Amino acid sequence: MFEIPFLKPKLVVKEDYMGYLKQIDDSRSYTNYGALNTWFEQRLIQELFEGQGSAVTVNNATTGLILAITQIKRPGKYALMPSFTFAATPLAAMWCGLEPYFIDVCEKDWCMNEELLEKEITRLGDGVAVVIPYAAFGTNLDISYYQALQDRGIPVVIDAAASVGSRLTTHFGQGFTGAVVFSFHATKGFGIGEGGLIYSSDKEMINRIRQASNFGFSEERESKQMGINGKLSEYAAAIGLATLDVFELKKQKREQVFEWYMEGLEHLGLLEQGWRLQEVRGSVAYSFLSLLCPEQFINSYFVQKLAAQGVQTRTYFAPSCHEQTLFKSYNRTSLHVTEQICRRIINLPLWEDMNQGHVQKIVRGLIYEG
Ligand SMILES: *Cc1c(COP(=O)(O)O)cnc(C)c1O
Repeated sequence: MFEIPFLKPKLVVKEDYMGYLKQIDDSRSYTNYGALNTWFEQRLIQELFEGQGSAVTVNNATTGLILAITQIKRPGKYALMPSFTFAATPLAAMWCGLEPYFIDVCEKDWCMNEELLEKEITRLGDGVAVVIPYAAFGTNLDISYYQALQDRGIPVVIDAAASVGSRLTTHFGQGFTGAVVFSFHATKGFGIGEGGLIYSSDKEMINRIRQASNFGFSEERESKQMGINGKLSEYAAAIGLATLDVFELKKQKREQVFEWYMEGLEHLGLLEQGWRLQEVRGSVAYSFLSLLCPEQFINSYFVQKLAAQGVQTRTYFAPSCHEQTLFKSYNRTSLHVTEQICRRIINLPLWEDMNQGHVQKIVRGLIYEG
């Protein structure tokens, strides 16, 4: 047992969604894109994306990735993606009959290296079925390059699992013509238990995904295309609506914890000691804080040091995908930046009811002798 666990998710409580549940009882409609789900989708578009674009909910982001990849991939063998991502990214590509192809990331933002990616796209030509960048830890990944890929006819599905609530001038993903997949998993910033959202400015694509997510049924309930059941139940939509009601407040609480971390890091001079933050743009809806430890250390030293003080941490994504048994044999570029990051990364707790005392205790654990 840790005094400060890594995660302590806090979803909306039953009192917050009783009113929505009552509507389900009254309507006796429980799923199949019912009234609450429709309302939830419309509110997400209005309240996050300024009324721009289209979106369909899914029962989790992994299903969302599979659906999006299936709908927009072109013929070809490879799904180009970072190795520095969660296993769901390569798994989704494999469920679509594609081979993951791993590309190294940049030192600064920990997202896929576009120069390396461009080289591989040129080399592989028609072999590229889809490109799947990951917006690392919710960052506002610059999508202009990926929009250009889309415009060149190379389909892009962005794994934006942790980016709900992340904004630059607009919400992350707004206006993108490829697919952007968000997660509502309990451990993410917009947690409802299990759930997700596929967003695109391409309404036609979202309509096709909506059908594919309902067994591929046409209006006549005839399967005309490959499908699966990826729908969100009305109960989950009820929790989603209640979450939307208080999302700004929840985000602000985590922003406060983030500010305490920044104060602590500065106060103790930890950046001068060699600690590094991910370089991000805009405001990121963090669900934990990620740092690289000073170069002369490996992260396990600090993981153990903090654990001894009652603080639980993680080292996402170490081992990264290419080091895991299932994905080991797949093609890749040199992954030396990924490997360096994985040697140094440490993720620190950043949950809603943390207080400044918690943060100070954690930050003090990052100091080292000598
Ligand atoms: C959480 C996560 C997923 C999976 O989301 P689910 O909703 O749990 O399926 C996929 N990719 C990344 C990068 C994630 O962090």
